[in-house]
Amino acid sequence: MHYLDNILFAILLLLGVGYFTLNCKKILRNIRLGKEVNRSDRKGDRWKNMAMIALGQSKMVKRPVAGILHIIVYVGFVVINIEVLEIIIDGLFGTHRVFSFLGPVYNVLIGSFEILAFLVLVAVIIFYIRRNIINLKRFVHSDLKGWPKSDGNIILYFEVVLMTLFLTMNAADFHLQNVSGGFMHFHTAGSFPISQYIAVLFEGVPNATVYVIERAAWWLHIAGILVFLNYLYFSKHLHILLAFPNTYFADLNPKGQFENLEAVTNEVKLMMDPNADPYAAAPADAVPTKFGASDVQDLNWVQLLNAYTCTECGRCTSACPANQTGKKLSPRKIMMDTRDRMEEVGKNIDANKGVFIPDNKTLLNDYITAEELWACTTCNACVEECPVNISPLSIIMEMRQYLVMEQSAAPMPLNAMMTNIENNGAPWQYSQQDRLNWKDEN
Ligand code: SF4
Ligand code: SF4
Repeated sequence: MHYLDNILFAILLLLGVGYFTLNCKKILRNIRLGKEVNRSDRKGDRWKNMAMIALGQSKMVKRPVAGILHIIVYVGFVVINIEVLEIIIDGLFGTHRVFSFLGPVYNVLIGSFEILAFLVLVAVIIFYIRRNIINLKRFVHSDLKGWPKSDGNIILYFEVVLMTLFLTMNAADFHLQNVSGGFMHFHTAGSFPISQYIAVLFEGVPNATVYVIERAAWWLHIAGILVFLNYLYFSKHLHILLAFPNTYFADLNPKGQFENLEAVTNEVKLMMDPNADPYAAAPADAVPTKFGASDVQDLNWVQLLNAYTCTECGRCTSACPANQTGKKLSPRKIMMDTRDRMEEVGKNIDANKGVFIPDNKTLLNDYITAEELWACTTCNACVEECPVNISPLSIIMEMRQYLVMEQSAAPMPLNAMMTNIENNGAPWQYSQQDRLNWKDEN
């Protein structure tokens, strides 16, 4: 019977981790749908970015209330899960609190886990109030209608349930440790600054019942963690894992520096240099088969990683001048749409034995409209604000590039300006010969 528990636990663990691994493979496959981009340079800066922004949460605290609450939940979640290691060993080998041989260190660890669990509960309640009662503008935005709003709340419920189970398990354990004369294998181990107060509820309850409560909380706690792990794939909470690679592979160029298209740069050089040979043959691979991006496969893999990492926090949208002035653009929606389309393409590939069958849809038009794209002022506020170094602007720019260069579909004033630059070498509609007329005035 004893071994049956261990076998059941091993099966549960295998199923949980196995399904998660399958979904990780899908995420990786979808990210690889993107074009190649080299982000292997400046490794020192990249590690620093990851340490400061993903691990150190340095951009989160720009908004102190949300930032500090987030750090509590983040640290709490990561640190408390160290205990998961103990649970896994106990579950697999039938031990009980296997790390208790650490003595006073173990007491400090369990004590700090409990305090963190309590703080996480408080932070989660405040988060819930901010999202659902105070209704902060960025959380009641139209981007979040439907599933994204439910997703934000579901994860809060998850946290409450997991932390409550953790404290209940400890409270029952504490009670059984203190049964006079001892109870089964429950020897004294750990300190319980929070759950000792919950344990008062067990006074007068038969020990066998408290034991059942302890076991139930223990099993539900680990099962809940495995469900949570697998829920990540369907949720914006993938950022818990992807914030690390995302900050590492982020663009390190100064904000505002755009990637020039080599083929276009060469054309312009020819135009500007009177001595250049206009008939000189360009290398065959100098001209791309498609300019800009109309679908997710045209974006690079870091942009697709960005889409999976987006936390849907809306800091970008709340700082976006286009959005603030009532335009249709929301940089958060750009990232959410990119992820949704990437998922759609991924499902298409899964359904068609590894091959994408065109579905008459594209990211452009079916998800993101030209109106949204042209509302962007390219100010970079969204990039600056993003707590995990995402660049919605880079996607906007590539889609605009497609509109201009593949479809000649720029707005009228822009087309007129570009025609003037092409014909007159200046954005205004007058001949180059008239350029110095101003000096003859007066
Ligand atoms: S760069 Fe564009 S999308 Fe980003 S904040 Fe500025 S206007 Fe908004
Ligand atoms: S792009 Fe960044 S700032 Fe915008 S919603 Fe996503 S995580 Fe938040």
